[in-house]
Amino acid sequence: MRVVSIFGVTGSIGSQALDFIRSHNGIFSFHTFVCDKNFKLAKDLVDEFQPKYIYFSDKIASEEFLKFKISSTVVLQSFTELKNVLLSEKSDIYLSAISSSNLLELTSLAASSGGKLLLANKESLVVMGEQILNMSKQNKTEIIPIDSEHYSVMNLLRNKNPRDVKKVYLTASGGPFLNNSIQEVADKSLEEALKHPTWEMGKKITIDSATLINKCFEIIEAHYLFNIPLEKLDILIHPQSKIHALVEYMDGSIDANISDADMIYPISYGFLGTINYELGKNELFSSPKGLDLNLVPFPEDRKFLIDIVKDVITNKGNRGLVFSTINDFAVRKFLERKIGFGEIYQLLIKNYSKVEKKQLLAIEDIEINRSEIINFLQKT
Ligand code: NDP
Ligand code: MG
Repeated sequence: MRVVSIFGVTGSIGSQALDFIRSHNGIFSFHTFVCDKNFKLAKDLVDEFQPKYIYFSDKIASEEFLKFKISSTVVLQSFTELKNVLLSEKSDIYLSAISSSNLLELTSLAASSGGKLLLANKESLVVMGEQILNMSKQNKTEIIPIDSEHYSVMNLLRNKNPRDVKKVYLTASGGPFLNNSIQEVADKSLEEALKHPTWEMGKKITIDSATLINKCFEIIEAHYLFNIPLEKLDILIHPQSKIHALVEYMDGSIDANISDADMIYPISYGFLGTINYELGKNELFSSPKGLDLNLVPFPEDRKFLIDIVKDVITNKGNRGLVFSTINDFAVRKFLERKIGFGEIYQLLIKNYSKVEKKQLLAIEDIEINRSEIINFLQKT
């Protein structure tokens, strides 16, 4: 039995991982589940998978869950308790799939574990990519990216000489506002922004896809995961979401990784350690339209986001935290209908450079600096 802990168990990635596990009964057992508020779904999952521990960030959800009186699973009462059980009893596989830059310490604990880290939470690489990769190297933790583009890049670069690589392209569908200018998207509604044409995902990443900020996070993610300099990373808009990444070599030839838009590929590879023979499908050849594969450049009017990416990678310290925290703040406000779609960009443009540069020497510095950034944003 492989022991598994899942952070973000009630989310889109968490649920898809558990669907995969359901179809591989008897191979996995469960140590810790972490979520925030969804105690009802958590109850069903605990009944079914019987983890040793569960932790809710939301205190009310935790109290509601306790009322179910499930004796086989211990409800951890504080973040310190959660950290202590994770430090004292290691899992073989950790799935990091929380949808924001909250609780990043869990990803760092998993990266230091010496086991396997299935890393969906890209925010942790945006905020502390260098530290996470160093921890994983020092402790021989294997990281498998649970992100379609990075899973593809991992496959494309396997057994390749880094010197031969001229450029790595990540693709973006363009989201629901493909071909719209930044002025045209300014007043788009929440319903429109949540209608992703090719992927079904949680709300936060769906909005990040509509703003194209998700792809900017992914450039930072690729930089750290594969040690690729920014000059060798680029984005192409590919509306069909079939090509997930391309690698161009020094001789001008290009390899592409193509599959259906389905997270089952990285998830099953992550859990099994091999490709999943049971999948054996793709819709590419099932209709003439399946072969329509377009690639166009990243929109010029969103290039200011790439300048932020450049600053994050060059200046390190708290820059990724500032990028991620302003975006988390703005997306939450948009989801609560308190700001318009265009204001997500405005909040970034107005505030990113204003937040003072700082070094983050310890994990505790991240939480302190995050609170400072949020205080600053609330005052503006
Ligand atoms: P969802 O919004 O569907 O799920 C988020 C999960 O995180 C839920 O279990 C939620 O708990 C939990 N969570 C949120 N905030 C906290 C918190 N403060 N403390 C504890 N748990 C918390 O997100 P996704 O599954 O879509 O995305 C997860 C991560 O994976 C993101 O980083 C995303 O960028 C990345 N990713 C997702 C893809 C996808 O296809 N969905 C593809 C590639 C990457 P609760 O339900 O209780 O609120
Ligand atoms: Mg992705």
